Amino acid sequence: MAALIGAKRKHGGDQPAPPPTTTTSTAKTLVVWDFDWTLINENSDTWLIKQLGGTEEYQHVMSRRKELSWTSLMAYAYERMTTGTTVTGQPKCTPEDLASCIASIPVFEENLTAIRRLGATDTITQCCVSDANTVFINSYFKNKNIASDFAELHTNPASFNPDGVLEIRPYVSIDAPHECSVCASSPNMCKGAIVEDLVERLGPFERVVYLGDGRGDLCGCSKLIGKEDVILARLEYALARAIAAANSEDYCTLALWNNGKDIVRELEARHVL
Ligand SMILES: [Mg+2]
Ligand SMILES: [Zn+2]
Repeated sequence: MAALIGAKRKHGGDQPAPPPTTTTSTAKTLVVWDFDWTLINENSDTWLIKQLGGTEEYQHVMSRRKELSWTSLMAYAYERMTTGTTVTGQPKCTPEDLASCIASIPVFEENLTAIRRLGATDTITQCCVSDANTVFINSYFKNKNIASDFAELHTNPASFNPDGVLEIRPYVSIDAPHECSVCASSPNMCKGAIVEDLVERLGPFERVVYLGDGRGDLCGCSKLIGKEDVILARLEYALARAIAAANSEDYCTLALWNNGKDIVRELEARHVL
């Protein structure tokens, strides 16, 4: 800074104003995206069942909601769809059927543009943390050509077995659920622990930006305690409501968004993009 002041005096002070002292785009930043209703504008789990299995099959699956954990319920649903044993009698879904349906999930195109721009920025480390599964998200990333923009993906492991049956497994073992009280309502995945692990292994970061919408994102957001950290929560969704209800000073800057344009505007305003 001293050199800059000296240069200004020497040249008569016509130089542009020095950069603001707040965080600039050169700050090393971790950007964490939730997937359902944040990166994409739908719930991939339920949308694909409705699209490929039909409304009756969706209703059948949901009738077992109280008996099964969410991940077990989805494992049940996708086993039925990929073995052709749905109530609607649809032929079994092939991996190709699923991939083409995944590619058509509604999205705010601005999000994809933002992800590509962030992925091309050296100072940004971008990760995705989701309670969907690896088959859906990797397929989506491949179709949109954004896989290389992410350093890591943390989600439920899934794969097709040799018979083409989609098998979805929990992120944490059912026998050893996480013990975090903040996210007791989502025992399969503590996003807070994942964010801490990302910061520890991939950092240090000068700031963390978390984009989310759901109650399951609250724990991840609770780890953003730096004054430069930013939570981008979807307006009128559970995460924004939970943060408002907490009425706590423990959270960092909160910005609300309603669509991809809002996300881009907020990221640009904070020099993340
Ligand atoms: Mg979500
Ligand atoms: Zn947690």
